[in-house]
Amino acid sequence: MKVKRIIGRYLIFIICIFAILQCGTSASAVSKSDDADTLIIGIPADRCPLFYLDTDTGEPVGIGVDLMRVVAEEAGYNASFMFITEKTNKEALDNPDYDIIMPFGSAITSLSGKKTVVTENLMQTPFTMVTDGSKNLPELNKIHIGMLSSLAGVAETVKELYPGIQITLYDTMTDSVKALRAGKIDAILHNSYVWSYVLQKPSYSNLKVQPANMFSMDFRAGTLDTPKGREIIERLDKEIIKLEDPRRQAIILDYTSRHLYRNNFGDFIYENRFLLILVAALVTFLIGFIVHKQRYVSQQQEQTLRDLIEKDSLTGVLSLEGFKKRAEELLRFYPDNQYLLVFNNIKNFKFINERLGRGTGDELLRFWAESSMAALSDEEAIGRITGDRFAILRKIKDDEGMKVYEKEVIEPLLNFFTDRGKEIKLQLCTGVYVLTPEDYKNIDVDRMLDFARMAEKKIRDTHKSGYEFYNPEQWEKGKQIVDISGHLQAALDTGEIQVWYQPQIDYMTGTISGAEALCRWKHPTRGWISPGLFIPILEETGLIFDLDKYIWERVCQDLKRWNDLGERRSVSVNLSRSDISEDRNIPGVFYELVQKYGLDSDQLRIEITETAYVERPDFLIKTTSELREYGFQVEMDDFGSGYSSLHMLKEVPVDRIKMDLHFLTGTGDMEKGRIIITQVIKLVELLGMKLIAEGVETKAQADLLNDSGCREMQGYFFFKPMPVEEFERAYDIGVRK
Ligand code: C2E
Ligand code: CA
Ligand code: CA
Repeated sequence: MKVKRIIGRYLIFIICIFAILQCGTSASAVSKSDDADTLIIGIPADRCPLFYLDTDTGEPVGIGVDLMRVVAEEAGYNASFMFITEKTNKEALDNPDYDIIMPFGSAITSLSGKKTVVTENLMQTPFTMVTDGSKNLPELNKIHIGMLSSLAGVAETVKELYPGIQITLYDTMTDSVKALRAGKIDAILHNSYVWSYVLQKPSYSNLKVQPANMFSMDFRAGTLDTPKGREIIERLDKEIIKLEDPRRQAIILDYTSRHLYRNNFGDFIYENRFLLILVAALVTFLIGFIVHKQRYVSQQQEQTLRDLIEKDSLTGVLSLEGFKKRAEELLRFYPDNQYLLVFNNIKNFKFINERLGRGTGDELLRFWAESSMAALSDEEAIGRITGDRFAILRKIKDDEGMKVYEKEVIEPLLNFFTDRGKEIKLQLCTGVYVLTPEDYKNIDVDRMLDFARMAEKKIRDTHKSGYEFYNPEQWEKGKQIVDISGHLQAALDTGEIQVWYQPQIDYMTGTISGAEALCRWKHPTRGWISPGLFIPILEETGLIFDLDKYIWERVCQDLKRWNDLGERRSVSVNLSRSDISEDRNIPGVFYELVQKYGLDSDQLRIEITETAYVERPDFLIKTTSELREYGFQVEMDDFGSGYSSLHMLKEVPVDRIKMDLHFLTGTGDMEKGRIIITQVIKLVELLGMKLIAEGVETKAQADLLNDSGCREMQGYFFFKPMPVEEFERAYDIGVRK
């Protein structure tokens, strides 16, 4: 036990001695550094990994810092690093707050021109050029490089080494990269260690390091050449010389092997640009979708409100308001439709309601509304005006079409009760207003409804049921328009429309010199109808071009047939003024036709009515000139019917004037008519144009024309228009004189 206690005491003693010794050593180490002079070292802040701020500790760190700390502490200094606030090291040299500044390649003068001293080289730092993509660099002596302005000292050294080199200094790396990408400089020159850090930035990934090191620079600390300065340099140099290379390399490797670059916000955006674009597109789509959805919902709400106002809740057809609005829309959208407006009223509705109850009355109204809606097209409308009164805007149809509606809607309505076993006959009064062209120009649905209502009242007042027209003559016109325009295509397809020829003669020789092609229509319900009736309707409904093209083609077919038989003839065709529009290219249409049938252009004579020239002189003159360039003969039709002006005769480039005797002799003073005819003949001859007289009905007229020098004639005196077979025979027989 005693021995144990002695050993224990001995051990405690040894431990205490050891602890005291230990404390002494560390205390002496502390006092060494405490005693050491503080050396304030100015360094740049923006040169990671050589010098930079460690954001975790708030201390300056880097290769340069570590190297200098080792050396300074070995030299007995307490090293304190401060980031310089001056723009360049050259300027910082003049600031007495720093004992020493780094780095320098060599001793330079301070900004104020003072001499400096520098330490031995701490390490060799390679400098490398970086280019935009892999680019072939020009010779070193011709190269234009960019450098950071904080490296102005290095730039001076480079300039000395390569006098031909051009250097531009930039304040920041971003500026220099921008200049590089814009092609203002060939390359950027910078410390390779700094490059190892800078090029970690994602958006610089396409910058290329030029493999050959351009040169390396010394890495020294420097201060003004003063006694104190020299003393510091001397003390440091002793240690620098002793600094072993493995130590130096370890420090360099420690920093260059770390991924020191931290992505900033800009880098984050750059790295994730595709994802961000996708997200932006998604967000835009979502916003668009939400806006669209909201608009849709509000449209739905609006529609619901509108329905409340514009729809009749009992029957589901339009209300008066809705009907007026829809009717206006339809008339605006379909101005070519022939409409009538119907006002219906059940004469004995009051009786029905009282006898059978309101429920049955409502059922009847719903039945009527439903069967009408089913029978009407999208271009028609029905509305319930009040109680048992309905208004319908309907298209005028041909007789068949009209009958269908009667059968599908009116008959079942009239038989509504009898079909259900009740002995009540419905009495329906209908007023019809047929819309006039004026109604499409100044749309006033109220006015039309009033007219239809007046017609309905007329029939109601007679104590009868049935229908009454407000304007029966317009009904006739409307029907005519529908019968004609609605049947044109079928008529062209089935051959109801034919080409007739009216021969034109040479009065002197008594031979047929040509013919005018005139169309004839044998309508299934209306019989032979005159072009004087249907041509204006087709012009109005825009269908005349279809008819004319058909006639021209048939004429060309006949001409070709005659050509093939060795009978070369010429025919005049009519060109309606409605055919002539800019986008139809009429000369092209005719040219294609003669090409197709292998005709000579002058076999077609194109008649354009005089009034067309008065209405659109410039465009007509252009069209006429083009037609003549293709070799067609152009004739001015109906000369004397309109405002034949002498000026027009001078301006319009036609080949032949077609003088209509009918207009010149029709009524009034025959003698004056005779004078006009003879003078017009002279005038046209003097102007160098050809002349033909049409509407020649008597021998006296023919002789007068002939005596005055007009030999070409056309008229009933010679021939009426005739079918093609007859015309061919007339050719063979010759002219009656
Ligand atoms: P228009 O071009 O002036 O044709 C001459 C009209 O006068 C023809 O009437 C012809 O039958 C008629 N006529 C001929 N000789 C005499 C006569 O001695 N006395 C009288 N009173 N009349 C005579 P039609 O065939 O009824 O044609 C009427 C109009 O219809 C034509 O007048 C022309 O403007 C137009 N037309 C006829 N066919 C066509 C066609 O295919 N296309 C176009 N766009 N219009 C046509
Ligand atoms: Ca004509
Ligand atoms: Ca004529």
